[in-house]
Amino acid sequence: MITNDLAPLHEIRGELIHMRDKALGAAKWEETVVLSHAIAWLHKLLPMEQRDVAGIPEGNQIFAYLHCVECFREITAMVKEQGSAKPRMFTRYEIGWTKLGFQARCVRHNLNIVHVDFEGAVHPARVTGA
Ligand SMILES: [Zn+2]
Repeated sequence: MITNDLAPLHEIRGELIHMRDKALGAAKWEETVVLSHAIAWLHKLLPMEQRDVAGIPEGNQIFAYLHCVECFREITAMVKEQGSAKPRMFTRYEIGWTKLGFQARCVRHNLNIVHVDFEGAVHPARVTGA
């Protein structure tokens, strides 16, 4: 339930989400990132029970893929040799929650790709089926 005091915040956030989605559709990456930060900042002003995942798009929003450093070397070599590569055909990554936050690892090379420390913060997240 949205109280009248918080209605302007929800309206501004809704407008920012609309602007962000428009920037995303136009591949304006810097504008997309700035608007995403503004949305997240406004979201933190809401009481926890009023936070939602409405501002988190469900489809693939990745604009820069992360790769294992060894897989990336192989991808680069493949592009040099064959002219192109399809990383998703041979990469094998595992992704999950950790005590600190979130981690992605390469199964093929047993290497860390990224491990994000949330520093105790709680963030909204859209997960499968939510
Ligand atoms: Zn790898």
